[in-house]
Amino acid sequence: MRFADLVTFYDRLDATTKRLEMRAVLVELLDRLSPEELGEVLYLSQGLLRPEYEGVELGVADSLAGRALAEAAGRSEEEVTEAVRVSGDLGTTGESLLAPLRPHPPPLEVTEVYAGLLAIAKASGEGSQEAKVGALVALLRRAGPSESKYILRIVLGRLRLGVREMTILDALAQKYAGGTRAGREKVEAAFNVSSDLARVARLLATEGIEGLAKVRLEVGRPVRAMLAERSPDLADVLSRMDGRTALEYKYDGLRVQAHVREDGTTRLFSRRLEDLSGQFPELVRDLPRALPHRPVIVEGECVPIDPDTDEIRPFQDVSRRRGRKYDLERMQAEVPVCLFLFDVLLAPEGPLLDRSFPLRRARLAELLRPDERIRLAKQQVVASVDEAQAFFDESIAAGCEGVMAKSLAEGSTYRAGARGFWWIKYKREYTQGLADSIDGVVVGGFSGRGRRAGRYGALLLAVYNEAEDRFESFCKVGSGFDDVGLAELPTRLKPYELDSAPEDVMSGLTPDRWFRPSLVLEVRGAELSLSPIHRAAFGAIRPGAGLALRFPRFTGRYRDDKGPTDATTAAELLTLYRSQVKQPVRDAGGSAEA
Ligand code: ATP
Repeated sequence: MRFADLVTFYDRLDATTKRLEMRAVLVELLDRLSPEELGEVLYLSQGLLRPEYEGVELGVADSLAGRALAEAAGRSEEEVTEAVRVSGDLGTTGESLLAPLRPHPPPLEVTEVYAGLLAIAKASGEGSQEAKVGALVALLRRAGPSESKYILRIVLGRLRLGVREMTILDALAQKYAGGTRAGREKVEAAFNVSSDLARVARLLATEGIEGLAKVRLEVGRPVRAMLAERSPDLADVLSRMDGRTALEYKYDGLRVQAHVREDGTTRLFSRRLEDLSGQFPELVRDLPRALPHRPVIVEGECVPIDPDTDEIRPFQDVSRRRGRKYDLERMQAEVPVCLFLFDVLLAPEGPLLDRSFPLRRARLAELLRPDERIRLAKQQVVASVDEAQAFFDESIAAGCEGVMAKSLAEGSTYRAGARGFWWIKYKREYTQGLADSIDGVVVGGFSGRGRRAGRYGALLLAVYNEAEDRFESFCKVGSGFDDVGLAELPTRLKPYELDSAPEDVMSGLTPDRWFRPSLVLEVRGAELSLSPIHRAAFGAIRPGAGLALRFPRFTGRYRDDKGPTDATTAAELLTLYRSQVKQPVRDAGGSAEA
């Protein structure tokens, strides 16, 4: 396919935020692609070159892309900078500056653009800046104006067509799996295990739905995490688990999926499947020793530990490490971490996803040689509320945030990417406020007044409605930000600014600035109430009213480990609302069942 044809599809995708329309455009696009082009186009359309977990970063600096544009357009760098200042976007500037020039033949093919971009992303070391500029100039000279706009947006890491994975899965299922529900589930299951849309697409295109059987768990490819439902009390947990369950400490840290190859090479992935290996070199070093039988894929929670007392420290300590490439050694000494393992997905004998949880846990215990740093998550099988309460109290005393109940049933397999009652979280209740924090997506900003003049004074937050694939507002939050945090907000939010309300955001409030749903942050509040203004779970409790969080407060925790669709869902908010109506707030850690 010519790249010029692909960008006509991009124009159409860019013009809508409606999932059904996007799906229709994508199906049309899939019809036009050869199996070889399929993978490349799916990566490009998400602004990627390789599956996210490989960490191939495009994002060249604006100055470098500006230099390339100046050279391709025969203008000075100053002219380009000035034009960008006016248009606000290097992509559109490229489009207009290159418009008067005729592109050099032959026309660009999609595969050539992909190869060029990959070369740009991979160039490193001495002379790499020049190589990047050279490769970009070569592409821009052969590109028409609209093609240049998209090439520039892609290299800058700012394509943002808003095409989400779920929409691509819909389109793939419609085209290759007959659009049936069962077909859609198979396609998603293959994606959950491989975490690579392009691979799933290629298999579908060449071998049909049966080809998906080839998607096997492999060390080095992260699996999408299994997630938990929540419950308002321990009696409810036990009854959902048929009276008997394995309770585990619910450590409050960072979820880590560790892949240890036969030769001991280790990679760590976050809940969003980003590579965390560089952030925790001590885990990469110690995991092979703790897991002598390999290959293995294990999961656990990484928490900061006080080196003097061996006590668990607050999560914030470990989040300080994120994004810090420098002073990592100091951080390792100051904030040592410990990994509490709770599951095994792959053992030397093969994948264990289809085994029940008790079998996996027993295997994990066999495989692990625990040491100071790599340990087994504390677990106890309980069959009464009293036993459960005692274990819960113990976990709180140990610095955890509650318990995870895990099903012991035969069907308790590892359900990649799914949230269900096979795992139930039950957290510490607070003397004041709602039983749980909420992870909200920033969709809007309100200009500050007084001391906050010239900055954002408050943010509009939304939950994700999975059924409708859209974001529904539930609060406007202004408290909990310190001065430094406030000063940072405009920069953090800049990449997501929009001129008008996105179609996939519902709110009765109109902020001063809309944002493309991307950034997720954690808030707490006093309670959930009904509101005519907010749109979360609108009409579910009462016609004309949505759910709103009263007295919301930012906890200081950005959930960089979550994408917008991983935020708290409208359905979860509804569960929280219902549990709060049934159960007034009690004392922290107090007897829930008394
Ligand atoms: P979710 O992952 O359910 O979207 P979240 O990321 O906000 O929500 P929580 O709701 O607090 O986190 O609980 C789920 C997380 O708890 C898991 O993803 C995992 O990181 C963590 N966790 C801590 N201890 C355990 C354990 N023993 N078993 C499973 N998960 C645990």
